[in-house]
Parts: sequence; C-alpha cells; structure tokens
Amino acid sequence: MMWPWRQNQEWVRADNLERRAIGAYLGLAVGDALGATVEFMVPEEIVAKYKVHDSMCGGGWLYLKPGDVTDDTTMALALGEAILAEKGLIVAQTVAQNFDAWMRAKPVDIGDTVRRGIVQFRHKGITEMPYDAWGGGNGACMRTLPVALITYGRADGDMVRASRIQAHVTHHSDQSDAGTECINRMIHLCLDGADKNDLLNNPVSNLITTHPEFRFHRKKPMKNPSAYIVDTLRTVFESFFDTSTFEDCLVDVINRGGDADTTGAIAGSIAGAYYGGPEAIPKKWLGKLNRAIAAQCIQQARDLIRLAEKDTHQIRKETPES
Ligand SMILES: [Mg+2]
Repeated sequence: MMWPWRQNQEWVRADNLERRAIGAYLGLAVGDALGATVEFMVPEEIVAKYKVHDSMCGGGWLYLKPGDVTDDTTMALALGEAILAEKGLIVAQTVAQNFDAWMRAKPVDIGDTVRRGIVQFRHKGITEMPYDAWGGGNGACMRTLPVALITYGRADGDMVRASRIQAHVTHHSDQSDAGTECINRMIHLCLDGADKNDLLNNPVSNLITTHPEFRFHRKKPMKNPSAYIVDTLRTVFESFFDTSTFEDCLVDVINRGGDADTTGAIAGSIAGAYYGGPEAIPKKWLGKLNRAIAAQCIQQARDLIRLAEKDTHQIRKETPES
C-alpha cells in the first residue's frame, strides 16, 4: 500500500508551511506510538529490557500493536475535527461534544482529569471545569496541536483565547494554560522556520519568567517524568534543545520513561515542524505508523493550515492599511 500522500502526489506539491504542519501532526502520532511502549517504566527498566528503546514495536501496558497510538493523538484528532466542523472557530460546545463522542468510542486510555471534564459535560452540559490551582495535568497540552495550526498567523491574544476554550473543557489551571500556550507559540515559530534561539529566547524564557518552576537543567535531565505539566515540559525542553535531529530528540525523550507517550507526542510535534516536515521523521517509524491514523493526521494538518492561511488573509484584507 502506498503512503497516503504518495497516492495522489499531493505531497510533492505541498509547500514548506504545509510540510511543517504535516510533520508536526505525524511527529505527534509517531512520538505517542513510540512512547506508549515504555509508558510508566523507569529508565533502568527500559535499559534492562531494550538497552535503547528506538523501534516502533507496540506493546507496553496497553498491549498496543506496532504503530498504534493512544489518547494524545486521538484526542488531538477529535479536537481538530471540532475546529474544522466550525470552519476554524473553537466552540466549547462542539469541542466538548467531540470529546464526549471520543470517550463513548472507548479509547485505549484516558486520563482521570479528562474523564472528569467529559463526565461533567455529559451530565450538566458545562464546558468549563472550575479553576483548580493544583490541577496541573498535561492533558490539555498533549492535544493542543490543532489549536496551534488553526491560530497560525493570528494575534497572540486570539491564540490564548482559543487555547483556553479547548483546555478548560477538562483542565483549568494556570500552569496548564501557560504550558499549553507556550507549546502553541513554539509550533507557530517552527512553522515559520525559526531557529532554536528564537524558541528559547521567546516563548520558553517567557514561560520560565512567569512560571520559574518550568526552568530546565540540561545537565541534570529529568527521569521518569510524571503527567504533571511542569515535569512533562521540562523533559520535552531538555530533549528538544539538547539534540539536533528528530530521531535523537525522540529517542532521548522516550527513554526517560514515565509519561513517555505524552512527552513523545509533544516533543514529536515540535520536532516534526522544526526539522521541516515528514522527511525528518525516520522511515522506520513513519512506515509502521497506523495508516488510518497517519492519513487523518495528514488530512487535518493540511485542512487546518489552509484554513488558517485563508482566515489570516481575510483579516489582513479587512484591516485598513495605515
Ligand atoms: Mg496516552
């Protein structure tokens, strides 16, 4: 079977922006599928079992088939569908409905905070969880890529509003918001072809200025990161900034174990965009990714980024020239 983008040669025609968007979405799915094999393992267990875990072999506590993904990818797809259904708007009701449908379809895994948010919507129709200063789970951040794509080219305030609407359906805390918005800004810069200093000097150091707990130490790498957004993003930052290829970044991040599917998914989305698109993702991984999932990721990446470009263009046209 041919790869979805090869079937109609559309891939060849994709421009740089579209390639980076597709790279981000496939990177998310590849990182999720790779990391799921070692989720909840500590690095010492990974070394004992695999030496270095670097193959798309499935398994793990979810007994996945090679190339199968988990909630990180499938929730992002559910969110992306909700955005496309509303022609690019992030409507809390539609997002919550899609998450509810996603849960009814019995996903392979689901976080406790995500479940609470969806159950609240199902029973009360409420699309925003109450503020919880201590609720720092990484569930809103792991699925944020469609928001990053649809808000590409928009004012930062638009991105922040959009990000919080989707996030608060299940996660409502300052750390979750700040971390998720930082990832959206990083993806925007990667789509523009920015370099690592731009990423470090702008979104990441701003995050650390307002929330010093996200400060990361490359010489003292995090091991066994939990699902706490601060642990997750410190791990992602260390791996991304300390390596220079998609493959090295992903191998580094997933071999730290812990919430490896989510660190893999977030690192994969940044690295997939940063390193220029799907060509940067090793074929040994991409070739084994579940094909139906790969096709959905490619389609959504294209649809979201095209819509974002169109909307930006309209806004520019409507704005009187000064
Ligand atoms: Mg997962």
